[in-house]
Amino acid sequence: MKNEDFIKIALNSKFYQNKFYGLNLNDWSGIPITTKEELRKCDAYDLIGTDFKKIATYHETSGTTGTPTSSWYSFKDSDQEAKVIINSHINLSSNDLLLNRFPFAIALPPFILFWACQKVNAGHIAVDKASSITPIARVIEIIQRSNPSIIALPPAEAEILAESAFRKGITLPTPNLRALIIAGDLSTSTRRKYLEKLWGVQVFDLFGSTETGGLFMTCKNGQHHINHPNLKVEVVDSNFKPLGHNLKGHCILSSAREGMPLLKYFNHDIVEIKDNFNCDCGDNSPILIHYGRDDNVLNIKGMEFTLADIQDIVYSMPIVPFIWKIHVYDDNLIFEYQLSRKHSSLNFAKEDIDKYLYDKLRVPVYSKPCQLITDDDLTSKPIFSKFGHIVKH
Ligand SMILES: [Zn+2]
Repeated sequence: MKNEDFIKIALNSKFYQNKFYGLNLNDWSGIPITTKEELRKCDAYDLIGTDFKKIATYHETSGTTGTPTSSWYSFKDSDQEAKVIINSHINLSSNDLLLNRFPFAIALPPFILFWACQKVNAGHIAVDKASSITPIARVIEIIQRSNPSIIALPPAEAEILAESAFRKGITLPTPNLRALIIAGDLSTSTRRKYLEKLWGVQVFDLFGSTETGGLFMTCKNGQHHINHPNLKVEVVDSNFKPLGHNLKGHCILSSAREGMPLLKYFNHDIVEIKDNFNCDCGDNSPILIHYGRDDNVLNIKGMEFTLADIQDIVYSMPIVPFIWKIHVYDDNLIFEYQLSRKHSSLNFAKEDIDKYLYDKLRVPVYSKPCQLITDDDLTSKPIFSKFGHIVKH
């Protein structure tokens, strides 16, 4: 899609008519970026880019990092969202039964999956992660009764569910299971490989956001090809100067989504567009590497780590804890972890973890075994809040 088409579609919303009033839009580089703050402050209805009669759903960001942002989807958008799944290598079909663990309240991912299932006549089971009706124990029972072929869930939930299954004596993969779809939180290729080993099936990752929609599903080789028809991705430095390809920087997205168009949206993700890569999946478009959000970058004693750096280190540990959390202080880190019960008899001490992490990070790090999730939560009660890996003090 050409730059002028993105501009034309953006001008369908009152928000952009006001923002761009009197501006010369002929020079793309001179067009100001759109910030999260602007979206938060404006009237939700000013963001709509089409006739209200065409609106299908309304969503909001989780609000974990501030006031939530509104996001509107038209019926046409819901078709496009479904296509991102349907056109991917997961080959969703009427032979599938998809168990959907994403929370249906406010969030977007569960709907993308439901829309996709409806389009190809695939079976669908809603087991909302945030609902008290479907705690983990109930989900395990439903998996055992229904034997879904695909399970869709946030990556941390995949780790928690696997531990719960282990404690109930269930072997993974369960019968018929052929793939996981993960979305919602960062998952590097190292973490995805760990999940593939844990579950014994292929893992597909859907990259996107509430504001922009589902954008890229990993190909069969685990790459996020930039192949969305209505999207432009740019990488810029901290002064918003374009960096081009093969350099890490801030992500700027332009989306010609009918319900809510966005132009040069600064989404706080740290990314890189790579065009010098090898992927034999048949898609030659460049790939997007996601390093996590800028507020998850750790700066400690002159060293900088993205959440992707941290994930790659943690998910390469000789024994990966089934759940973990890093507390960031001015001059040290505290790594809290809980090992899977299947590793309880192994000789892997706190000192081994301290040494492993220090060798990789080269900053003072203290590890601390602790119970991040109680036995009760794993087997009976729902976990309501989103699990965060980084806590800054
Ligand atoms: Zn590929």
